[in-house]
Amino acid sequence: MISKSKLMPTETRIKIRNGWLENTRRLASPHFDRRPDTQDISLLVIHYISLPPEQFGGDYIDDFFLGKLDPSQHSYFENIYQIRVSAHCLINRKGLITQYVNFNDRAWHAGQSEFEGREKCNDFSIGIELEGSNLQPFTEAQYNALGRLTEEIMRAYPLINKARIVGHCDIAPGRKIDPGQYFDWERYFSLVDA
Ligand SMILES: [Zn+2]
Repeated sequence: MISKSKLMPTETRIKIRNGWLENTRRLASPHFDRRPDTQDISLLVIHYISLPPEQFGGDYIDDFFLGKLDPSQHSYFENIYQIRVSAHCLINRKGLITQYVNFNDRAWHAGQSEFEGREKCNDFSIGIELEGSNLQPFTEAQYNALGRLTEEIMRAYPLINKARIVGHCDIAPGRKIDPGQYFDWERYFSLVDA
């Protein structure tokens, strides 16, 4: 007889089905379109974001990716609330994952970008945002969630391997610096069993 507690880890394991994470907070963003080739999902891009800048814990990142950011809530929002961007997922400071765009669709996270001579990285990449900034370390809960999420993404999209996991800074140098000086790549990759 298998006790219920032994089943728990399996039930709560991160699992992608039809491009969506099961048992995961989901807020469907209108900021996406079709990929030119759904068979070519071959790059993972790590980002950071905080809204307002350097403030954590609000719902403003959700609002931003959903196109619902209220410009009256903060002066910074007046400059960005009409920008239509998204990511596939956000991992907040507590390690909670939210998915906004189906992995099989194209999220709008990379902007003008290039990886190994190929432009328009949104076409063939998955974008994950960490709630964070360039001024403070990411949390243990974020690394743990990112590691588990990465493993499941690599299982579901086997063209993605560790050599094809990059920072936004790597595909948009001179324009973007995220995930920034505090993102510990060695620690991250140590959590990814591949
Ligand atoms: Zn970015």
